[in-house]
Amino acid sequence: MKNLCILGSTGSIGVSTLDIVAAHPERYRVVALTGGNNLERLREQTLRFSPKVVAVVSEQDALRLKESLGAQAPEILAGVEGMAACASHSEADMVVSAIVGAAGLVPTMAAIEAGKDVALANKETLVAAGPLVMEAVRRRGVNLFPVDSEHSAIFQSLTGHRRADVQRLILTASGGPFRDSSLEELRGVTPAQALAHPNWDMGRKISIDSATMMNKGLEVIEARWLFDLPADRIGVHIHPQSIVHSMVEYVDGSVIAQMGIPDMKTPIAYALSYPERLSLPLPPLDLCAVGTLTFDQPDTERFACLSLAYQALESGGTAPAVVNAANEVAVEAFLEGRVAFLQIPEVIRAALDRHRSEPLDSIEAAQRADRWGRAEARRIIQTFIA
Ligand code: NAD
Ligand code: MG
Repeated sequence: MKNLCILGSTGSIGVSTLDIVAAHPERYRVVALTGGNNLERLREQTLRFSPKVVAVVSEQDALRLKESLGAQAPEILAGVEGMAACASHSEADMVVSAIVGAAGLVPTMAAIEAGKDVALANKETLVAAGPLVMEAVRRRGVNLFPVDSEHSAIFQSLTGHRRADVQRLILTASGGPFRDSSLEELRGVTPAQALAHPNWDMGRKISIDSATMMNKGLEVIEARWLFDLPADRIGVHIHPQSIVHSMVEYVDGSVIAQMGIPDMKTPIAYALSYPERLSLPLPPLDLCAVGTLTFDQPDTERFACLSLAYQALESGGTAPAVVNAANEVAVEAFLEGRVAFLQIPEVIRAALDRHRSEPLDSIEAAQRADRWGRAEARRIIQTFIA
């Protein structure tokens, strides 16, 4: 029996994780859940999975949840401290890190410091503080299993091979809903159009990141730290069918890829059950029905966010944390109709250009850079509106 804490249980990844738990009650038990603003869903999940502890963002929400659960309420905590307490709960064996954004950093670090294995969906944590997170993983001797489909594919393609023989990682990208749109067409993109991803059903922020291709940029940074390879050995191929989830090229010319239908349950289940595989009720991959798999170079003129992520890696230190923070603010502003689609990379570029990268020597340094990036992005957006 594996006891789980699920951070961000009310989101897209959280709900898929609980579907897997519900299908395999002999293997998994939920000891802690955390949610953001979807209290009704968190209430249902609490009644269904009976966690020992639940955490929400504010004290007010904690009270509301407690009242609505009445006699069935477990211990209910609030704030980042509450989430960190869930992540380090004495009975948890594994923490599924599925909060969106840099808000996941502190609870995820708490899990690692408490000696828990982590199934990591929250890529922003590695973007903001990759070297520190990986140092803590090594020091505490825990396992960090990737949930992101590309990184799960790479993890699977590395298994059984010598790291010294790896030449290059190739991340695949669907190209998002605007893969074939012209720059002119991108100017007028609305939030509703950007939220409609052709292949994957995801949370709002990552859907916009996929449309701008910042998601792939964040994933390059994530791969850089997870697999300890420099950025010039991590490439991106556009692969609209989303069947090849990523690849590893070896020094002898062999390329090993992992394939499957685009459904996050596969990489989530692999992180939960490694090294075993769970049987999942998914339709099989029918390559004959897919017929053609295509690959292409990304266009960094139309999708400038991808280059900005590489640029942040090259600057090093706190630069990726700033890019991540500025992106979070710009995406929110886009969803609220305050900036245009093509202004998202402009906000990030302006913040990155003004940032003086500092060494990433502590989590506090990553948090300072995150706060600076957010404030700077808000200021830049004001100048756009003025
Ligand atoms: P989502 O928006 O559907 O869910 C996010 C979860 O985090 C929710 O439970 C929400 O309530 C919670 N949350 C939001 N803000 C919070 C805050 N400030 N403090 C605490 N909790 C907060 O997002 P998602 O699509 O499930 O993505 C979660 C993470 O997984 C992201 O980092 C994303 O990049 C990554 N990811 C998602 C997918 C996918 O298919 N959805 C695929 C790969 C990676
Ligand atoms: Mg991904």
